[in-house]
Amino acid sequence: MTPDIRDLSLEELAAYLKSVAAEPFRARQIFQWIYQKGAWGFDAMTNVPQELRDRLEKDFILKPNEIAQKVVSQDGTTKFLFDLHDHEKIESVLIPTKTRTTACISTQAGCKFGCKFCASGIGGWSRNLTCAEIVTQVLHVKQEALKQQRPLTNIVFMGTGEPLDNFSNLMKAVRIINSNKGINIGARHITISTVGVVPKIRELAQEGLQVELAISLHGYDNPSRNVLMPVNKKYPFDELIAACREYVRKTHRQITFEYILIKDVTCTVHAVASLKKAFKGIICKMNLIPYNPVSEFGHQTPSREEMLEFRNSLEDSGVHATIRTPRGKDVNAACGQLRHLQKQ
Ligand code: SAH
Repeated sequence: MTPDIRDLSLEELAAYLKSVAAEPFRARQIFQWIYQKGAWGFDAMTNVPQELRDRLEKDFILKPNEIAQKVVSQDGTTKFLFDLHDHEKIESVLIPTKTRTTACISTQAGCKFGCKFCASGIGGWSRNLTCAEIVTQVLHVKQEALKQQRPLTNIVFMGTGEPLDNFSNLMKAVRIINSNKGINIGARHITISTVGVVPKIRELAQEGLQVELAISLHGYDNPSRNVLMPVNKKYPFDELIAACREYVRKTHRQITFEYILIKDVTCTVHAVASLKKAFKGIICKMNLIPYNPVSEFGHQTPSREEMLEFRNSLEDSGVHATIRTPRGKDVNAACGQLRHLQKQ
C-alpha cells in the first residue's frame, strides 16, 4: 500500500527528500502545507517545484478522511464519524468552551479494555490507528474549528481506545502535533488519558515531553477498581498509584486523576477516606466525571447534590477536585459514549 505522508516525522521526510535528490529544507515547507495551511493534496503546495509535487503524488497518500457523519450538539460540540480505508469507523470531537477549543481524538479502532461503564469497549477492539490516522483527525477538527473562527487550543486523547496501548504511533503523532513546524500545540495543552498501563506510564516519563497525563482511576481501592476496570487485575490499584508517584517525581508534572461518579458505586463516603489515603504525597488533582448513561450497563448518575457533597468532602480532606461539565451529550459525544453505532 502507498504510505501516507502523515506517517513521517519531519526528520523522516527530510531523509526521503534526500533519497530522491530534493533539498531537505522542502520538508519544512511540506510540513507547513499539511499541518499549518490545511493542504489536503500536493497540488496545493505552490512553492514546491512541480516535479517534486508529481513525485510526492506518486510516492505518498495525502487526502482527507471520508466523513461518514458529522453531528453538532446544542452546546456547539461537533462529533465526526470517519470511515477509514478498511471501513473501520472512528470518532473525533470538537469541544468549544469559553476559554478553549479542544479536539478529542481516538487512538484505536475499538477498545480492548472493557471498562464496565464505557461504550467504547462494547464492540471489542479492531486495531491500532496509525500516526497518520491520529494526526488527520486533528487536521479535520482544526479545520472545523477555524470555520467557526476558533483556533484549536487543546488536544485530549480521550476518544476511543487506549493511547498508551498504541505507544509508538501516539508518540510520533504527539511530536507532530506539538512541533512548531507541525500543528504547533503546546505540550501542556495536550492531555494523554490512560486506563493505567503501568509500564507505559514509566516509559512516558522517560520521553521528556511536557504533556499532561490523566489517569482513569474510577475506583478508590483495589476491590472497587476491580469491579469496574478489568485492567486492574493486571495493573492493580497500588501499583498504578506507585507508578504515578514515580512519574511525578521524575517529571515534576502534576497528574490528573479522572474519577467517574456512579451512584452508590464510586460516589460514596467510604471512597473519600480511601482516596485521601492513596493520594498522600502526590501532586495531583481530581477530575470528577458524572457518569454518562450507557444503556448496556444500568448504572445511575448521582444527583447534583450528591456529586457536590462528594466534591466538597474531597476538598475538605485536602484533595483538589472539580466536577467536569458533560458536553455533547445529546449527540452521544460525551465521555465514554463514543462507539461504533453503525457497526451492528
Ligand atoms: N482509554 C483512555 C482514554 C479514553 S476514555 C482512558 O481510559 O483514559 C476517556 C475518559 O472517559 C476516561 O476517563 C473514561 O474512563 C471516561 N468514560 C468512559 N465511559 C464513561 C461514561 N459512561 N461516563 C463518563 N465518563 C466515561
